[in-house]
Amino acid sequence: MHRNNLSAILYGINDLRLEETEVGKPNDNEVLLKMACIGICGSDVHYLTKGKIGDFILEKPMIIGHESSGTVIEIGRNVRNLEIGDRVAVEPGIPCRFCKYCKQGRYNLCRDMEFCATPPINGSLRRFYKHAADFCHKLQENVSLEEGALAEPLSVGVHACKRAGITIGSNVLILGAGPVGLLTLLVAKALGAKTVILSDLNQHRLSLAEKMGADATYVVDKHSSETENVKNIRICFNEPPDVTIDASGAEDSIRLSILVTRAGGVVVIVGMGAPEVRIPLMDALVREVDIRGVFRYVNDYSDALDLISTKKADVRAIVTHRYKLEETLEAFETAKSSQSGAIKVMIYCE
Ligand SMILES: [Zn+2]
Ligand SMILES: [Zn+2]
Repeated sequence: MHRNNLSAILYGINDLRLEETEVGKPNDNEVLLKMACIGICGSDVHYLTKGKIGDFILEKPMIIGHESSGTVIEIGRNVRNLEIGDRVAVEPGIPCRFCKYCKQGRYNLCRDMEFCATPPINGSLRRFYKHAADFCHKLQENVSLEEGALAEPLSVGVHACKRAGITIGSNVLILGAGPVGLLTLLVAKALGAKTVILSDLNQHRLSLAEKMGADATYVVDKHSSETENVKNIRICFNEPPDVTIDASGAEDSIRLSILVTRAGGVVVIVGMGAPEVRIPLMDALVREVDIRGVFRYVNDYSDALDLISTKKADVRAIVTHRYKLEETLEAFETAKSSQSGAIKVMIYCE
C-alpha cells in the first residue's frame, strides 16, 4: 500500500523542507504509528537555527521532531504490550539495553542511545513513523493525543523533581518559565511542594506561571545586582529555597540558583546552555549545596502520564499555537520568533 509520508526534513541551517519519505516496515520489536501530535522543542529550533547542539552536529539531512504521539497501525510479531488501534506517547530515546547504565536502570546515560532528531538519528515529525514498542507508552482513555505528545517535556519535569528530591513541604524556586520550567512547576506541586516560585525575565511568561499555580513570581531585573536578586527572591519565600531548578541554562541564572539556595539544599540544572560557565563554586562547597544535572528522563514516562490522567498536571496550558503538518514551516517560524509569545507550538498530523 502506498502511504503519503510527508516528513519535515532539516537539510541545514534555516533549511527545513517538507518532503515525502519511505514509510518502512516495523521490525519484530517495533510498531508502525500513524502520527498525531508533535510538539516543537527548543532543541528543534536550535538545530534549525544553529545546525548543532554541543557535539551533536547536523551533517546530513535529518527528520526533525521528538515530542510525539500516534496510533498503532501495524505491529511487529514479538510485540506483546500493544495492539493495533492503541494510542501511544512516544518516548524518543532508544538505549542499547546491554551496557552498565542500561542494566542499572539509568538508560538515559547510555552511550549508544538513539534519540529522535539528535543527529544523525531521524525524528518523528512525519505522517508515519516506526518505533520500538517498549518505548511507546499506551495512553489512558482520558488522555488526549496532544497530552501524549506533552508527556515528553513533562517527563523532563518529573525527572528534574526526582533528582531534586522534592517532597511534601519543599520550598522550590524555578528559574525560567519556558515549557520545561512551567511543567516542572506542575510536577513540584503534585509532589506536595509547599511553595513554588517562578522567576524569569519575561512578565508574559510569569503571568502564565501564575495561572498554572505558581505561588508567586519574580521578574529578574537585568539591571539589579546578583545580591539584590538573591535578597529579593529570599523575601518572596520568607527564607531561602530548599531546592532551585534552573530551567534556563543561562550563566546568570545558574549563578543565581547556587547563591539563593539554602545551605544543605539542592540545585538542579535542567537547561542546556554554554559548555562552560563561571559559577560561585566555593559558595556551594562551604554551604554544602548539591549541584545536580538532569539529562532528559529515565523511567519517568509512566509517572508523567499518570499525572496527566489524574488531572494533577494540566499540560495543555502551555500550548499557545497549533498548526497542521502541512504548515510546519510556519509553525517553526512562530516557535523561533520572540514576538509570537509562543510557549509550546504543537503540530497536528491529522
Ligand atoms: Zn523536547
Ligand atoms: Zn546502554
